[in-house]
Amino acid sequence: EPLDELIAGLTVDIPDHPEPGVVFRDLTPVFADGRAFRRMIDGLAAPGASDPRAAALAGPAPHPPGDPGFDVVVGVEARGFLLAAAVALDAGVGVVLVRKAGKLPRERVSADYALEYGTATLELHTDAIRPGQRVLIVDDVLATGGTLGAAIALVEQLGGVVAAVSVVVELAALAGRQRLAPHTVHALWTT
Ligand code: IMP
Repeated sequence: EPLDELIAGLTVDIPDHPEPGVVFRDLTPVFADGRAFRRMIDGLAAPGASDPRAAALAGPAPHPPGDPGFDVVVGVEARGFLLAAAVALDAGVGVVLVRKAGKLPRERVSADYALEYGTATLELHTDAIRPGQRVLIVDDVLATGGTLGAAIALVEQLGGVVAAVSVVVELAALAGRQRLAPHTVHALWTT
């Protein structure tokens, strides 16, 4: 079964949540299904695999054997944590948390961004990323791209190199991909 169909089949659409006119995509059943979770994690960890353009840019043998192409995985609170932890563990690298404002106890960098409704702030410990580290950023849903745009800005502010951005679902009508350019987004399901 194609991965996009597997994810689409398990996702539950909630009309008019959290506002009238918005269809909320509830991915929690995808996380709860062992087979889907396994394939989702594998897909997120291989950002070049399903994108011929990215694969072509990277060349035929982009990374030496045993090198996943990233040195650390960044997850965005909260569902992104589940994804980032699993991807990092599989790849044998560490996991770093981008958190909502007020949660991180030490010196940190902050980025404000626009939500679909209102504004919010994301934060990252300043010592969480070392200059030159290759970073894979993961989250569940790409909507307007505000959240991932802020996460990218935080990583780059610390000198990290965004190797790839991987999401489970891209809501294409909201044009998040365009907003994140020139970074390319690897989406397991675009709808
Ligand atoms: P964006 O900043 O507009 O791209 O929104 C993306 C963030 O909001 C992600 O962290 C998602 O977890 C969350 N989000 C936005 N829309 C949905 C949805 O339909 N289902 C689940 N999460 C969503």
